[in-house]
Amino acid sequence: MTYSIIDHFFDVVVVGAGGAGLRASLGMSAAGLKTACLTKVFPTRSHTVAAQGGISAALNNTGDGDDWRHHFYDTVKGSDWLGDQDAIEYLCKNAVDAVIELEHMGVPFSRDENGNIYQRKFGGHTIDHGKSMANRACAAADRTGHAILHTLYQQCLAHNTEFFVEYFTLDLLMDDQGVCKGVIAWCLDDGTIHRFRAHMVVLATGGHGRTFFTCTGAHTCTGDGNAMVLRAGLPLADMEFIQFHPTGIYGAGCLISEAVRGEGGYLTNSLGERFMLKYAPNAKDLASRDVVSRAIAIEVKEGRGCGPNKDIAMLHMEHLDPKIIAERLPGISETARVFAGVDTCKDPIPVQPTVHYNMGGIPTNYHAEVTKDSQENVVQGLMAIGEAACVSVHGANRLGTNSLLDLVVFGRAAALRAKEVVCPGSPHEQLPDSVTDKILDRFDKTRHASGKLLTGNIRLNMQQIMQNHCGVFRNQEILDSGREKLAECANALDNLQINDHSLIWNTDLVEALELQNLLAQAVVTVDSARYRTESRGGHAREDFPDRDDQEWLAHTLVWCDEKFSTNLDKRPVHMYTLTDEVELITLQKRVY
Ligand SMILES: Cc1cc2nc3c(=O)[nH]c(=O)nc-3n(C[C@H](O)[C@H](O)[C@H](O)COP(=O)(O)OP(=O)(O)OC[C@H]3O[C@@H](n4cnc5c(N)ncnc54)[C@H](O)[C@@H]3O)c2cc1C
Repeated sequence: MTYSIIDHFFDVVVVGAGGAGLRASLGMSAAGLKTACLTKVFPTRSHTVAAQGGISAALNNTGDGDDWRHHFYDTVKGSDWLGDQDAIEYLCKNAVDAVIELEHMGVPFSRDENGNIYQRKFGGHTIDHGKSMANRACAAADRTGHAILHTLYQQCLAHNTEFFVEYFTLDLLMDDQGVCKGVIAWCLDDGTIHRFRAHMVVLATGGHGRTFFTCTGAHTCTGDGNAMVLRAGLPLADMEFIQFHPTGIYGAGCLISEAVRGEGGYLTNSLGERFMLKYAPNAKDLASRDVVSRAIAIEVKEGRGCGPNKDIAMLHMEHLDPKIIAERLPGISETARVFAGVDTCKDPIPVQPTVHYNMGGIPTNYHAEVTKDSQENVVQGLMAIGEAACVSVHGANRLGTNSLLDLVVFGRAAALRAKEVVCPGSPHEQLPDSVTDKILDRFDKTRHASGKLLTGNIRLNMQQIMQNHCGVFRNQEILDSGREKLAECANALDNLQINDHSLIWNTDLVEALELQNLLAQAVVTVDSARYRTESRGGHAREDFPDRDDQEWLAHTLVWCDEKFSTNLDKRPVHMYTLTDEVELITLQKRVY
């Protein structure tokens, strides 16, 4: 079938209206670039709205001696030395200004007794290389993402960003030189197909947590941008690094923020022991997330799990002052009541490590430009930011509160770079029709798929494979058998059945397209995990329990073709800083 196409011409097209997409759109619009922001959900429904605990910046509001260089050290260590130190320097140095900028834009941060932004403790954030815990997480109660997202959306409207809401982006328009020239999107509301031409496309499409069965991310976290990049023949980076958050509510998977432990909460096993004292004598319950998640997994494995199936830990906050809970953790108490039936003033919350964040994604430099190989050559016309990107400031493990910071710092960086490289209002060259046709062929084929298997069944199968074969602990055997099962799952896509062939509000088709995106990412995740024969940060191999800096002080790059076969390569970690304002953090053993 042929589709009629509505054409649009912009300087910049941002795909995604979470914190990253909105901060970039705002900066681009303010710089005088004609900017479109496309989003498959209403902007303030993006997953950023769910962020709870805070955004990090060494404001030193509590006078604990915090400084961005401490933040830099903690982030390098948190990343298990896989983070690029130039990008981490950029992140931490710009953090203070970024948070003050948010405050001035109108983010309603909680306040301390002096009227300053309230700051709490968070896992892995310390003063002086671990001497004491830092008060670095700037918080709006436990609804920080909500506050930031709404403020950024209002600012974008004030700066005349043009929003295309509920437009599902299908793919990138890539010319024969490998330059990105725009995107094709499907308007869910009226079924029309749109071609957006742009001198710069910014992917801010968020994470892909939904490759797994239980995850704290929204159902829309399907990593569509990552899959578009793979289909364009470009690589993704560090896909084996999945963050398991130690405190997802048992069964439901909803997040109980680390802010609970930041305010004094702690974990126990079936013997009532505070087991984190054993695994992280200094940081205890505020060790970084990979460490706490592994500790819970070990307690469970060794028979000290709680609950009827002995597969959970208990998170206590009943000893905290109910006034503090009401003021600083109101959302958590509500979530615990609704999803676990627990009154947090009286009883502990049953928790389990749950997929939470993707450290891997679209490789970029610290200007947000997408890179395509181990030499880090830049893809013209394409940027990536936020959870979709791998810049890489989080390396093998992200510290809590560093993602919201990543969104605004690199959203702004993208706008600064675009201002340098895009000439406002410059004309768009002709593109051969074949570029658009290829994208619409896949769309049409999916729309009319007449096989026997429903999207939901294939998706559930994929999610269970990932849950069982690519969890907190991995080994060759379990990964290999997971890969075989995923191959069958991928084949099942050829037998997909779509029952709704219409173009208007066709959620059947949306979910099928998202499943195609998810499956490609599941495959590259497992193949990257098989490739990396060491343990580092969020990637724990039982058969290779140690970090191997000789072989693996490197980012993984992975390509995937239409038949789901992959190619892998490495690129060196940036062991250098941008300025001499901060010292390079040389390799050390990572203990908390
Ligand atoms: C429950 C929870 C709590 C968290 N708490 C914190 C915290 O306290 N502090 C912290 O630092 N981090 C936290 N995080 C992590 C952080 O919130 C996320 O990493 C971050 O918000 C991701 O932002 P983003 O802008 O990259 O993407 P998202 O906010 O996920 O937005 C993605 C956007 O892309 C759009 N999109 C996707 N695909 C398409 C498509 N095909 N076409 C068109 N549009 C598309 C969506 O519509 C959406 O607008 C938390 C995460 C979760 C899940």
